[in-house]
Amino acid sequence: MSKRSISILGATGSVGASTLDLVRRNPEAWRVSALTANCSAQELAVLAREFSAEIAVVSDESCLPELREALAGSGVEAAGGVTALCEAAARPVDVTIAAIVGCAGLAPTMAAIETGGTIALANKEALVSAGDVMTAAIARTGATLLPVDSEHNAIFQCLQGNDVAEVRWITLTASGGPFRTWTAEQLAAATPEQAVAHPNWDMGAKISVDSATMMNKGLEFIEAHHLFPVGLDRLRIVIHPQSVIHSMVEYRDGSTLAQLGPSDMRVPIASCLAWPKRMDTPCTPLDLPAIGELSFFTPDEQLFPATRLAREAARAGGAAPAVLNAANEIAVAAFLAGKIGFTNIAVLVEQALNQEIPPAPATLEDVLAVDRQARHRAAQLLESC
Ligand code: NAD
Ligand code: MG
Repeated sequence: MSKRSISILGATGSVGASTLDLVRRNPEAWRVSALTANCSAQELAVLAREFSAEIAVVSDESCLPELREALAGSGVEAAGGVTALCEAAARPVDVTIAAIVGCAGLAPTMAAIETGGTIALANKEALVSAGDVMTAAIARTGATLLPVDSEHNAIFQCLQGNDVAEVRWITLTASGGPFRTWTAEQLAAATPEQAVAHPNWDMGAKISVDSATMMNKGLEFIEAHHLFPVGLDRLRIVIHPQSVIHSMVEYRDGSTLAQLGPSDMRVPIASCLAWPKRMDTPCTPLDLPAIGELSFFTPDEQLFPATRLAREAARAGGAAPAVLNAANEIAVAAFLAGKIGFTNIAVLVEQALNQEIPPAPATLEDVLAVDRQARHRAAQLLESC
């Protein structure tokens, strides 16, 4: 069996580590091309050596000397800077894992799409911000986009062999995050440490805060809208605290198909790596009698306004989702830095959406300009928070 080639954008993160764990267990199946990180040069160099990567790239150019030194004599090429990151992402491979966090992953993901290859997308912020620009590039290049996000991977699986025109509802499940049962007073005093302690999933800091505010589900609502061609009025969100059902598709005849699995990202990642086949994973199988009960609730948008904001941005279309995402990135970073309170994250995003929204972006450069401007404005709004 000839080896398949893989690049991992965001190799040092949570999704990157889960992907590399699967690659490590199947060394005869994979040849690693590019591994990238923002700055963690030592960590990246260890991975690049272990997997004999062709190239390791740090997005932050100031970290390149450290990476070069750490890779000296290894035979792994070292590079730094955003242009180098995009060039590495543009090297043709069988599968690219797009696992950078935030809109910073957009340009490299688009570079991978331009190769017309297969992109397994975890980086939901890129699709939320670029929306139609990214889907147009996929249509033009013939690239294949496979969803890594567990909900979208579940929906993708439930749609196989079915006609999307016959879908009545797509139901995104949400754990509700660590603050699901909290009061408004408790939410106002929530700390970053509490917000990143997710009950079911072990993830990077930004997505953990997004799960706590429910903005993760808001971003996923927009992500689903771009991935699956059903109207926004056929997408809904239900709280399911056990995170056993990862999402569901209901068809016109009343049948609902669901995908179940452990809360382990290696399951949806494996589904992308092996697609359209299957591969073994070391994940603990579901023990349904031990789980006992599955429960479902309607989201409380008074306490957690993020899903409403995302739905409104999706309905407005154009640049609104990119503005929502940029403002959220700024607000989450400010919250993690202790500069604003937890509930001010949604307040800041709503204020950003209430400002004048720029014209709909038509190119990658347009999206990046909207993102830059929205970050700048959100940073100004922060001052008054
Ligand atoms: P993480 O913070 O653990 O890792 C992020 C990776 O991106 C790291 O390798 C980091 O070095 C790199 N990075 C950060 N900033 C960068 C920048 N400015 N330029 C280039 N690279 C940069 O994040 P994560 O939890 O692995 O999430 C990655 C993406 O996958 C996010 O979009 C997240 O929403 C999505 N996702 C994550 C999970 C999960 O379980 N962690 C599940 C579903 C979707
Ligand atoms: Mg998800």
